[in-house]
Amino acid sequence: MATLKLRDVRKSFGSVEVIKGVDLDIEDGEFVVFVGPSGCGKSTLLRMISGLEDITSGTLEIDGQVVNDLPPKARGIAMVFQSYAIFPHMTVRENVAFGLTIAGASKKEKEEKVAEAARVLQMEHLLDRRPSQLSGGQRQRVAIGRAIVRKPKVFLFDEPLSNLDAALRMDMRMEIGRLHAQLDATMVYVTHDQVEAMTLADKIVVLKDGRVMQVGTPMELFHEPANLFVAGFLGAPS
Ligand code: ADP
Ligand code: MG
Repeated sequence: MATLKLRDVRKSFGSVEVIKGVDLDIEDGEFVVFVGPSGCGKSTLLRMISGLEDITSGTLEIDGQVVNDLPPKARGIAMVFQSYAIFPHMTVRENVAFGLTIAGASKKEKEEKVAEAARVLQMEHLLDRRPSQLSGGQRQRVAIGRAIVRKPKVFLFDEPLSNLDAALRMDMRMEIGRLHAQLDATMVYVTHDQVEAMTLADKIVVLKDGRVMQVGTPMELFHEPANLFVAGFLGAPS
């Protein structure tokens, strides 16, 4: 698990500022959900936390250490994307082990960690299949498995379920909730789906136009929205 601290974090692309001073504290083991309309900066913020995108100004601390200049690999973070980043020519087993293979893990270590990830994600029976033989939900599970084996302190999810149909989305939502309960990890999860946010989050961060509108538990946001934007976004009566 890990704590994250963002202080006046900003991001500009050229002369356009898209993240406009974000302050945020994320506690050990917390499940934090970023919500907000398309283009408000959710993915950019997540990519800055992961290290895939530079922070223009401000500081990001992980467990008390400023990590602005640390490369993604050194941050103990794993990111799961919306489009499942899995290789079509590899089996599920090879896909899940991929990060370990690159890191030079032994055969035994790979076998153990892949077996554990498969157990947690209930996909032992899928290990010898190729991605073309999997459903969308199963592919998403493989992508999560690839993140799990690296034992990250922090998981980042960028709209991981948005390509799935409604029924599968509900299954996977429960699965991600279960995963959080099982793994010792802090999770930051981006979605534009209110139901996902309300059911998964310990804490919701509502973003609009590169700024934090409100931070609170689902109940706090629902019952005491700071403004009409938050109320409208979470579907609370106003
Ligand atoms: P969200 O994930 O909430 O939909 P994004 O973080 O993808 O929003 O985008 C936030 C804003 O930053 C948008 O206006 C988007 O057009 C802009 N943006 C994102 N990435 C880039 C980039 N690489 N270059 C220029 N503008 C970008
Ligand atoms: Mg996005």
